[in-house]
Amino acid sequence: MDKGKLIVISGPAGVGKGTVIRHLLEVGGGDFAFSVSATTRQPRPGEENGREYFFVSKEEFRQRAERGDMLEWAEYVGNYYGTPREAVEQVLASGRHVILEIEVEGALQVKSRVPDALLIMIGAPDFAIIEARLRGRGTNTEEDIQRRLKRAREELDLVGEFGYLVTNHDGASEAAAAEIMGIVEGGESVFGSSKGKMQIAEDFDEPLEELQEYM
Ligand code: 5GP
Repeated sequence: MDKGKLIVISGPAGVGKGTVIRHLLEVGGGDFAFSVSATTRQPRPGEENGREYFFVSKEEFRQRAERGDMLEWAEYVGNYYGTPREAVEQVLASGRHVILEIEVEGALQVKSRVPDALLIMIGAPDFAIIEARLRGRGTNTEEDIQRRLKRAREELDLVGEFGYLVTNHDGASEAAAAEIMGIVEGGESVFGSSKGKMQIAEDFDEPLEELQEYM
């Protein structure tokens, strides 16, 4: 059985990553699985534990990161977010592609641990669109919006680290999803020449000092 590909999708808050990924999951049938991250942030109205995220305490997050259970993790606007490693490995081994929707710092960690992962950044045609979308959500405080906008600029500065940039034009998220599908179909397998062994480096060290700072 062919092994799945690890697809990392990043992009500034408000760029519409969620909508693009929803289309991707629809058109991809059962070939794609979405990796549900762990986070210490509070659930937004309508979010369910285990569906959008696993909502955990900072203490639980810290323990899991220390045990090496996270493929990557990062602090974002005052909270931790991380990708549970085992679930990703299991899905890839079953032959399905795994989508990680994560911020840029985590994406760069994946790049170093899984060199053949496909790194895709979703951008907007114009920064004003990002701000408008972020405000339109109505679920973030002004302080949170300002921090997310600052982080959005920093994230876009790192686009050169990504293999692909896909622009999500207004009302064209299906086209963005189709573009990503093309990248996945044409891209290199995560397993490259390793004959079925997922290339996650086993010897990475979690930057625990940094983690503890936020506890
Ligand atoms: P939000 O709070 O809006 O759901 O997510 C904030 C940011 O965290 C987004 O950029 C999202 O992509 C990112 N994020 C979600 N899950 C993870 C994860 O597991 N790891 C990392 N590094 N970032 C994540």
